[in-house]
Amino acid sequence: MEKQELFDTVEAERSWLEDLSQSIWADPEVALQEYDSAEKLQDALREEGFEVETGVAGMDTAFIARYGEGDPVVGTMGEFDALPGMSQQATAEREPVEEGAPGHGCGHNLFGVGSLAAAVAVKRAIECGDAEGTVVYAGTPAEEAGGGKVYMVRDGVFDDVDAVVSWHPGWNNAPGKGSCLAVDSFEFRFEGETAHAAASPESGRSALDGVQLLGTGIEYMREHVPQAARIHYVVTDGGDAANIVPGEAAMECLVRAPDRAEVERISEWVKDAAEGAALMSGTELEATKTSGMYGVLPNHELGDVIRENMADAEFTLTEDQAQFASELKETLENPSYGRVQPEHREAAAEAAMFTQPIDAPDEGKTGSYSTDTGDVSWNVPVGRFTAATWPPGTPAHSWQAVAAGKELGTAGMLFAGKTIAGALYDLLTDEDRLARATGEFTQRKGDREYESPLPDDADPYELVDR
Ligand SMILES: [Zn+2]
Repeated sequence: MEKQELFDTVEAERSWLEDLSQSIWADPEVALQEYDSAEKLQDALREEGFEVETGVAGMDTAFIARYGEGDPVVGTMGEFDALPGMSQQATAEREPVEEGAPGHGCGHNLFGVGSLAAAVAVKRAIECGDAEGTVVYAGTPAEEAGGGKVYMVRDGVFDDVDAVVSWHPGWNNAPGKGSCLAVDSFEFRFEGETAHAAASPESGRSALDGVQLLGTGIEYMREHVPQAARIHYVVTDGGDAANIVPGEAAMECLVRAPDRAEVERISEWVKDAAEGAALMSGTELEATKTSGMYGVLPNHELGDVIRENMADAEFTLTEDQAQFASELKETLENPSYGRVQPEHREAAAEAAMFTQPIDAPDEGKTGSYSTDTGDVSWNVPVGRFTAATWPPGTPAHSWQAVAAGKELGTAGMLFAGKTIAGALYDLLTDEDRLARATGEFTQRKGDREYESPLPDDADPYELVDR
């Protein structure tokens, strides 16, 4: 099969793929509530002859779809959860569909369907005997809250997969070769004694004092952790009324750093500080680790496979889409182009859609974010990229991103589908390529063992409720 045939398959299926994405966009469901969205994706995959296993890793909306037999096993991932409060119509002005309702502010409707387009195209290649092996589509819920993939990794979902190629909506077409921050999250709950705050404060012990002393301790720690580390917190419970000494108070705290071991070291220090805060305030501490993630282990070989396929896959934008893109772009108050290399910033600033593929802008860099793809990347070589689904400079989680996600974004979605299809096809048909990706993975990982950063009794549903 020529690569072009694979791309043509995606084009030929354009109409129902766009409908599928739009129907998920129109019914946005937040983390672990994505019942309809997951079902729509599963139905489409079953229709194509994929074997679908639902409810994996203890999550109703997590699923795995497989087609084919034997090795190699190549995979892609699809997210489909929406964000709370981000409801927005597909218009070039701020206009919610329903005030306060969820919306697809991160383009996950496109994400889920773009990857599905690729899985379907690769399946067709296997079906007609042009490629041998298995293609896997992992339906990964709750990216925006809790990180469903970490649970799927712990459940062994990726154990037999040889390589994964995945993407994320964005405003440029570029492979990712960078890393990001590993993270641990905690809840620190202090228990004191309530008392009348004016009449008998000597009988009280303030749980809020515990929280505040911990916060102060963290501020002093900042100077002594590596530059790239991040520690941030909010007070989730600070008491009920000012005339009552707070008997209960709680802090949610995140610790991030490029290196997983560094996160664990800093986390231990924060826990010590919490114990110190409890001692100082005469309160009891309950420290609970709620979640954790690895940073991304990059794979340059897969980045190169992606980049080559981007060069061949066509990005088609209709006139209506281009028109809407320029209207939407006008509404951006502070577009930022810092994400791409300096030499591309002018072109990005001028374009309504920045469709020209570029080289990895993040090679050798560590982004200040965390993603549950990190855990996948420590278990199987993962290639990542962004595709242009909204106008250059548009931040994710903005109303413009939601507005673009309905129709405009399907252009980048199909481009992503072609790119992933081409990359997975290369990995199925070119043994050396796959071996190089695996070799790089083994070498980068070195002797570091992956250990699930989740607490033993972690329950994804509890995490989302927090
Ligand atoms: Zn996202």
